[in-house]
Amino acid sequence: MHRDCVIGVDLGGTKLLGGVLDSSLGVHVRLQRDVPLGADGARGGREDGERVISTLVALIEELRAASPAPVRALGIGVPCLLDPAREVIEMAVNLPLRDLPLRARCAELLGLPTYLDNDANAALLAESRAGAARGAGDALMLTIGTGIGGAILCGGSIYRGAGGGAGELGHMVIDEDGPPCQGNCPNHGCLESLASGSALAREALRLARSTPDCGLGRALAAGRKITGPLVTELAHDGDQAARDVIALIGTRLGVGLASLVNIFNPDVVVIGGGVIAAGEYLLAPARSVMRGRALAPAVGRVKVLRAELGAESGMIGAALLALVESGMAVGAELQ
Ligand SMILES: [Zn+2]
Repeated sequence: MHRDCVIGVDLGGTKLLGGVLDSSLGVHVRLQRDVPLGADGARGGREDGERVISTLVALIEELRAASPAPVRALGIGVPCLLDPAREVIEMAVNLPLRDLPLRARCAELLGLPTYLDNDANAALLAESRAGAARGAGDALMLTIGTGIGGAILCGGSIYRGAGGGAGELGHMVIDEDGPPCQGNCPNHGCLESLASGSALAREALRLARSTPDCGLGRALAAGRKITGPLVTELAHDGDQAARDVIALIGTRLGVGLASLVNIFNPDVVVIGGGVIAAGEYLLAPARSVMRGRALAPAVGRVKVLRAELGAESGMIGAALLALVESGMAVGAELQ
């Protein structure tokens, strides 16, 4: 007999990942869907936003129907800036969800106590209770996917800033004259514009076009779409060009990490999101550049680690949010 469950959903820039979890964060059901974006992507209008909500609600209903025990609460991690009460999406870089009262809409449509947080905050919450940042009081998280999400754990609590918008580490500028950032960000040369999964795919396509005689070039000639996962697959298969592109992204990530460790002096920086599938091909150059550029006292003992909960850290964090905020008992091993 299963104990009562909660649903956690990680709403990403391109994918929705949801799960039914118990109070020890055991995952009983998991489902994934594509985020239905119109031609205008993040800049899409109200109709595009409604399509995203319909997909989200349908996913949650399907999870609930498959749950082995009654579902008591719902947590959603969103790649957005929320108002201080975490009710309304104030700004979304990669999704058409601006000004949307998402918490109330979901609570009303689903009849479940619903809690929202930024997706990277949720992921860091999970990693700090049950993953790579377990036991750390001061930690940072970067979730590298379509964009780059960020979160700050300060003295054991998520640091939210004056208006709830802190932790957007992906929008730290690492090149003043760099390319325009993505979606709705007005800045140039943000870490997100240079080291996200989108940047990885863009750099890989450039290399595939200019160097037809490499694994990437041959994949392009064979009609394959050059995506982050394909680059990672080719790198693991031994293609040097794919490894070089990931190392370039890792180098840029290292430049960002040098500033972050100087500013925050964390115990650990956790790197998650889809791009972390590249593993040490990404992290080794990132660590090396970080150590070469950061001030010695800050960088001395910091660990840069892969998210232990992998691609599920956001989903598990959203479930943890639902457990904690609804007052349900959290498994003793997670206290
Ligand atoms: Zn930006």
